[in-house]
Amino acid sequence: MNLLDAFLETLYPPRCIVCDEPIPHYGYCLRCKGKVKTIKEEMCLFCGARKKLCECNKRIYHFDAITAPYFNEGYPKQAVYDLKFNRKFNCVKNFGRQMAKKVAINFGVENIDCICCVPPSKESLYSRDFNQSDLFAREVAKCLNVEYKPKLLKKKDSVRSQHRIRTIQDRFDNVRNGYYSKENLKGSNVLIVDDIKTTGATIDECARQLKFAGAEKVYCVVALITENKYKDESYGL
Ligand SMILES: [Zn+2]
Ligand SMILES: [Zn+2]
Repeated sequence: MNLLDAFLETLYPPRCIVCDEPIPHYGYCLRCKGKVKTIKEEMCLFCGARKKLCECNKRIYHFDAITAPYFNEGYPKQAVYDLKFNRKFNCVKNFGRQMAKKVAINFGVENIDCICCVPPSKESLYSRDFNQSDLFAREVAKCLNVEYKPKLLKKKDSVRSQHRIRTIQDRFDNVRNGYYSKENLKGSNVLIVDDIKTTGATIDECARQLKFAGAEKVYCVVALITENKYKDESYGL
């Protein structure tokens, strides 16, 4: 265990992800063990949806593949919400480990040269003083033993927070050219880590920018993947 880990453990001793009971190890208490299941269905790695709900005929993303351990529902959804808005760090270690597992199985660790996170907007960093994507990315990098570059992607101030924007097209427009990378990534494969894929607009733009910077392949892993929203008329597509 490194110093930062030891420090975090004193600040945030392990608590059950589901019921918040103090426990000896990060994860679940005996009562809640088994309540949270990782995704077992066959998923489309190109769009991240279930194979039978594949959205690849609606949009081609700039990233090469995406994977996630959980759907954006139930306990995992609550855990990430509690992380972002209630400063409950319970899920970071366990979810990070599950994300790393998905990467290893679906992409192969040997295919990843470095890992980055999606940078936060100024307003969210101001309101919560940490970036949840960065926390997950650190865990994933540690589990996979791959170099983590926290500052690889930068965000421009012009980008508004996505959650207030309703239509899919507006979300894609909002983030367009909102990120950049100054590093020369020629020939390298990068893994982007984020907390949630909703429409995929943010992570898609990040992937596009990494490819501008020369990245060969861009893989993505998120803790939560949101199910097909294109079916919902209110989303405007
Ligand atoms: Zn519990
Ligand atoms: Zn697909």
